[in-house]
Amino acid sequence: METALRKITLLDVPAQTRPIRAELEEAIGRVLDHGRYILGPEVTEFEKAVAAYCGAKFAVGCASGSDALLLALMALGVGPGHRVITTPYTFFATASAVTRLGATPVFIDIDPATYNIDVEALSRSLASASAEEVRATKAILPVHLFGQCAEMSALLGTAAGFGIPVVEDAAQAIGAEYRGRRAGSMGACGCFSFFPSKNLGAMGDGGLLTTNDADFAAKLRLLRGHGAEKRYYHRTVGINSRLDTLQAAVLLVKLRHLDEWTARRRRNAEVYRRALANATAITLPVERADCRHIYNQFVVRVPRRDRVREAMAEAGIASEIYYPVPLQLQECFAYLGYSAGDLPNSEAAAASSLALPIGHERTDADIEHIAATLVDCVAAV
Ligand SMILES: *Cc1c(COP(=O)(O)O)cnc(C)c1O
Repeated sequence: METALRKITLLDVPAQTRPIRAELEEAIGRVLDHGRYILGPEVTEFEKAVAAYCGAKFAVGCASGSDALLLALMALGVGPGHRVITTPYTFFATASAVTRLGATPVFIDIDPATYNIDVEALSRSLASASAEEVRATKAILPVHLFGQCAEMSALLGTAAGFGIPVVEDAAQAIGAEYRGRRAGSMGACGCFSFFPSKNLGAMGDGGLLTTNDADFAAKLRLLRGHGAEKRYYHRTVGINSRLDTLQAAVLLVKLRHLDEWTARRRRNAEVYRRALANATAITLPVERADCRHIYNQFVVRVPRRDRVREAMAEAGIASEIYYPVPLQLQECFAYLGYSAGDLPNSEAAAASSLALPIGHERTDADIEHIAATLVDCVAAV
C-alpha cells in the first residue's frame, strides 16, 4: 500500500491568513468605509508603529522594497559617475537601484559563514581605492541577508572613517537585532519590503524606509510624491511611490502578531538544528552570538544541491535557491567586467545553498519531517 505524499510548500500564505482573517476583514472594511485610499490615516499610523518597532525615529512608506532602495539612494544624491559598495549575494533590487540611477555597484565578496558582506574585504577595498574613487563612493549598502544583520559595528566604523553614509537593505530583516540595535536603525536609513514572502508581508507590494534624521525623512517624503510638497508645485523630480492605505491597514494588523511569529520562526530554526545536528554533510546557518536572527529564510548548504532539491520535490517538499546566480555574473551586469572566480564565496554559496520551509505556519512535526526527508535525500543522491 502506498502512503500519501505529505506535501509541504515553501510558504503557505492562506495558512498564515486563516487565524487573523476576522481582524483583517475588519481593518479592510474600515478602509472601504472611509475611502481615503492614498496616504490615508492607516499609512501614518503604520509609519509610526513601524518606526517604534525598528527603534528608529521616522518611517516613510513607499510602494515596494525596491522603491525604498531607489528612494534612499536618490535622497543621498546618487547619480552618474558615483559608486555604491554592496554585496553580490542578494536579491537583484539591491544592485538595480544603483544602476537605475546611472551609478556603478562595486561588489565585495561575502563572509561564507553568514552570507553577509565581508567587512574586512570592504575595508581593504576602500583602503586601496584612489582618493577620486573614495570621493565618488556615495553609499555603502549592506544587506541583512536571510534575516541576520551584517557585521554593523565594523562596517559603520569603516564607513565613518571614509565619511560614506550607510543604507541598510533590511528587506529580509524586520526585527532582527545587532548588539541590541534593530535592523534599519543603525545606518543613514533602512529599507524594508512587505512582499508577501517577507516576515511582515502585505496583500501585495509595499515598502518603507526608516531613518533617525528628520531632514532625511522629509526628503524621502518629497521624493516619493513626485517632489511636490504642495500639489502641482514640484521642488524636485521624484517618483510616485506610496504605500497603499489598504496595505497599511493589513500591515497594522499583522504587526501586532509579528513578535509571536518571529518567535515561532526561531523555534522552527531550533527544531531544524536539533534534527540536523548529526548530519555532517549538511551545513547549518550560523547565528552570530551578537545577533538576533529572524529567519526570513533558513538556508543550509548541501553537496549535489540541485539533485538534492529534485529529490526533495519528489518527496513532496518544496525548497528554493537564494540565489542561483550572484549579481556580478548576471547577464545585465556583464558590462561591469566581473568574471567567474572574482568573488568566489558568492559563487560557492550560489552553487550549494538551499532554503527550507521556515514560516511561522509550520509546526514542529512539519520541520522534523522536512529535516528527516533532507537527510534521506542527501544520502540517496
Ligand atoms: C525582497 C527584497 C527586496 C525588494 O523588495 P520588493 O518589495 O520585492 O521590491 C530588496 N532587497 C532584498 C534583500 C529583498 O529580499
